[in-house]
Amino acid sequence: MTDQHYLYDLAEGDASMKALLGGKGAGVAEMMRLGVPVPDGFTVTTAACVDTMAAGGTWPDGLWEETLAALARLEERTGRGLGDPERPLLVSVRSGAVVSMPGMMDTILNLGIGDDTVDALGREAGDPRFAWDSYRRFVQMYGEVVEGVPAHVYEDALTALKKARGAAQDTDLSTDDLRELVDTFKQVSRQHIGDDLPSDPREALRRAIDAVFRSWLNPRARVYRRANGIPDDLGTAVNVMQMVFGNRGETSATGVCFTRNPSTGAKELYGEFLLNAQGEDVVAGIRTPRPLAEMEQVLPEAYGQLLDVMQRLEAHYRDMQDIEFTVEEGSLYLLQTRTGKRTAAAALKVARDLVEEGVITREEALRRIEPAQLDQLLHPAIDPAHGREPLTRGLAASPGAAVGEIVLDSDLAERRGKAGDAVVLVRWETTPDDIAGTLAAQGVLTAHGGMTSHAAVVARGMGKPCVAGASEIAIDTEARTLTVGDVTLAEGDWITLDGSTGAVYRGALELVPPQINTDFATVVGWADEIRRLGVRANADNGPDAARAREFGAEGIGLCRTEHMFMEHDRLPAVRRMILASDDDERAAALAEILPMQQADFEEILEAMSGLPVTIRLLDPPLHEFLPNLVDQALEVQRLELAGEGHPTDLQHARALLAQIKKLTEQNPMLGTRGVRLALLHPEIPQMQVRAIARAAFAVADRGGDPRVEIMVPLVAFAEELRRMRAIITETLEEEFERAGRRLEIPIGTMIELPRAAVVADQIAEHADFFSFGTNDLTQTGVGISRDDAEGAFLSSYLDTDLVPDNPFSSIDVDGVGGLVRLGAEGGRSRKPGLKLGVCGEHGGDPASIALFERLGLDYVSCSPYRVPIARFAAAQAALDARR
Ligand code: PEP
Ligand code: MG
Repeated sequence: MTDQHYLYDLAEGDASMKALLGGKGAGVAEMMRLGVPVPDGFTVTTAACVDTMAAGGTWPDGLWEETLAALARLEERTGRGLGDPERPLLVSVRSGAVVSMPGMMDTILNLGIGDDTVDALGREAGDPRFAWDSYRRFVQMYGEVVEGVPAHVYEDALTALKKARGAAQDTDLSTDDLRELVDTFKQVSRQHIGDDLPSDPREALRRAIDAVFRSWLNPRARVYRRANGIPDDLGTAVNVMQMVFGNRGETSATGVCFTRNPSTGAKELYGEFLLNAQGEDVVAGIRTPRPLAEMEQVLPEAYGQLLDVMQRLEAHYRDMQDIEFTVEEGSLYLLQTRTGKRTAAAALKVARDLVEEGVITREEALRRIEPAQLDQLLHPAIDPAHGREPLTRGLAASPGAAVGEIVLDSDLAERRGKAGDAVVLVRWETTPDDIAGTLAAQGVLTAHGGMTSHAAVVARGMGKPCVAGASEIAIDTEARTLTVGDVTLAEGDWITLDGSTGAVYRGALELVPPQINTDFATVVGWADEIRRLGVRANADNGPDAARAREFGAEGIGLCRTEHMFMEHDRLPAVRRMILASDDDERAAALAEILPMQQADFEEILEAMSGLPVTIRLLDPPLHEFLPNLVDQALEVQRLELAGEGHPTDLQHARALLAQIKKLTEQNPMLGTRGVRLALLHPEIPQMQVRAIARAAFAVADRGGDPRVEIMVPLVAFAEELRRMRAIITETLEEEFERAGRRLEIPIGTMIELPRAAVVADQIAEHADFFSFGTNDLTQTGVGISRDDAEGAFLSSYLDTDLVPDNPFSSIDVDGVGGLVRLGAEGGRSRKPGLKLGVCGEHGGDPASIALFERLGLDYVSCSPYRVPIARFAAAQAALDARR
C-alpha cells in the first residue's frame, strides 16, 4: 500500500517481521493474516523508537505525518473518528519489544475519550457509568505514563471520594461520583503538569507514543534487560489498536488461555476468564477468574470460536501458545498470541507429544529445550507458589532447594544430620574439615567463596544445594547467630536455600520432588542419537558414580582424590603423613591410607564397570589438610595459659603449629600443589598408584571390567610430566609384577595452566590424553582468584556488564577458550588422535559445551546432576555445528 518506513497497518505485517514490529505487533499481524479476529490498528516500528532515541528524543522526519495517515486509514476502516462526538474511536497504545518484557514498559488504554466523546461512548454501550469509569482510568493512565504524575495523587483522590460516599469498592461509586472524579483527576493533573490535558486527542496520541518510546529506557526495563541479556539498542515498537471492551456487560468477557497445560504439558483446556471485565482485572487478582471450561455455558458461541482459534494458532506456530482474548458483546477478539512459557516438565512433554503428533521433527524438539531449565527436574525444588521475599542472596552455586535448621559448625551438622535432623550448614567459608558436615546437611550456605570454591564444587558433586558467597551474612560463632541487616537468626532457626537462584529464605518453604519420567528419558534419548561429544561425570565416590551412570554418564572424567583424604576417618592418618618427621613414619601413615583409597577406587570402578574412569592424583596443597593457622596458634596459647594437662599435648600442638607455618604459602593456589607436590613427595603418588592398580585387579577378580586412567594435575612443563610418568609407570610395573598380570592404564594430564596450553605439543609427547581443567585455566588465564573474585570485584563487573558472564560458570570464549584451542591444536599437532576432554565446571554449562563442540574436543565431564543437561546441550551444539 505504501512506501512508508516507520508504520505498518496490521494487515501489512506478518510473523517474520518481529524485529521491526516487536513480538506483539508481529503476532497480531500474523493472526489478522490468518483470518483470526483481532482489533484493527497499526504498529509504529522499533526503528522509529531507535531513531528517536538516537536523536535525543526528537522524532524522525515524517513519523508524525505517517502516524496521522495510518490513523486516518484506521478511522476509515472502522467508520469511526478519534474525538468524533457521534462515533468515537478509542485506541490502546501498547509497547511491544522484540523479546517479551512483561510489565516492564508502559501502556495507555482508552485514548480518544474526552468531554466530547464520553456521552457517545455511554450511549453506544447503553451504560454511562462504564463510559465515565473508562474516562477516569484514561486521565489517570495518561497522567502517570505520559506526564509522570505520581500514582498516589490519583489513588488519594479516589480514596477520599470513596470515604466521602461511604463506598467500600470502586464499583460502589455512581456515574455522578465518577463524573466528579474525572474533574478531580483533571485538577490534580493540572497541578502537577502546570497545564491542561491536551484537548486534541491527536496530540494526546503523539505524546502517548512518545511516552512508550521513553519507557524503553525506564530503570525497571533496563534492569530486566540486563538480567535477561537483552541488548539495550533494540528499542520497542508501539501498537495502536482499536479498543475492544470486555466490560460491556454480561455478554462481554476477558481472559487468558494456553493451548496446553504450561505446568504439565498435558494437551488439555487451560485458561481463565472473567465476565464483564477488562484485562487488568484478570491479572490484578481483584476478582477470581473462572476456569475456561465454564465459558461454554455463558458464552457458547465465542467459546466454540476460541477453541477453534486456539487449535489453529498452535498448528500454525507449531508450538504451545499463550493467548489473550476479549469478548465484546458476544464477539471474540484475540489481543495477543506468543510461545507459552512452561516448566521443564511441560517442555519435555510438549516436545515429545509434538514429535509424536508429527508436528515437529526430533531436531526441532531438541532445539527448543532449554538445557539449563532441566535442573528443575533433577533436584527437589521450592514450590513456585511460595511468594516470599528472600532474606538475602548469594551465588547459585549448586542447584536444588534445602530446608533445615541453621547449624554453624560441621561437627554439629554431622551429629544432627546423622541423627536424622534436617540441618543447613552455614559457614563463613568451608574447609576440608567441613566435608562430613556437608554430607550430613541438606545444603550449605557460605558467606564467602565463589562458584568454584571448595564448598561449591563439593556440594555440586554430591548434588547438595549450595548458596555460596552470600556476603551480606555476618556470622557470630560466639553468640551462635547469623545476621543479615537488622535480622538476626539463631542456630536452630529454620532457613531455606534455593541453590538454583542463590536466594536464601527465612523459615521452611514447601518443596516439590524431582520428576524424572518417560518424557525425559525419551527426549534425552533423541539427544544421545545426535550428539558427538561424550558426556562423563566428575565423581569421587561410589554412590555419586552410580547416580552419574543412572543419569547417563559414559564414564568418569575426573575423580578428585583429595576428597577421599578429607573424610573424617582418614584425616588423622593424612595428618600423620604430613607431619611425619622421617621416612619411616611417613611410610607407616601412607600404608594406613592405601587400603582406604583402594576401597574407594573399588567402589567407583565397580559402579563404572565397562566405562572409563579418570583418577586424578592428589592436587591441593598439604596445608589444606591441617587446621587453620590462627586456630592452631590460639590452641597453643590456650594450652600454655592452662599450664596443666599433658605436656605432650602442648608439644604436639606446637609441632603442628610449626608445620602449618612451614606449609603456609602466600598464594597456595599457585604454590606446592598438583604435580609439584607429587614430585617433592613421590611416596604420595606411589601410594595412590598402588591403590589404583590393586583396586582394578580386585574389581576384575570379582568379574568387573575396570577401565582406569591416571591423570596428573597442574602440569606446566613437559619435563614435569615426563618425570611423573616415569614414577607412575615404575610403580605400575611393580604392581603388575606383584599381581602376576598386567592392565592397560593410560596416563594423561590436566591442561589447566596457560603455559601448558602454549606448550601442549611438548606435553603431548608424554600424555595419552589431555583433560582441560577450565577452573584453574580461568583462574590463571584471566588471573582472578576462584575463591575471592566472585565475592569482590567480579560481581560489580557483572552488574555493570563489564563482562557478559561469570567466567567461572560460563567459559570466557575469547580468552580462556583461546587457551583451550591452543592446547587442543598443540596436543593434536604432536599426536593426531589425542583424546581431549574437559573436566572443569564448564563441562556442564551449555554455552561452554557449544564451544567445546566447535573445538572438536572428545568429551565433557561435569557433576552427576548436570549430566542430562550436558547431553541435551551437546546435542544442540552438534545441531548448530551442522548448520
Ligand atoms: C580445574 O581446575 O578445572 C579442575 C577440574 O580441577 P580443580 O577444580 O579440582 O582444581
Ligand atoms: Mg584444577
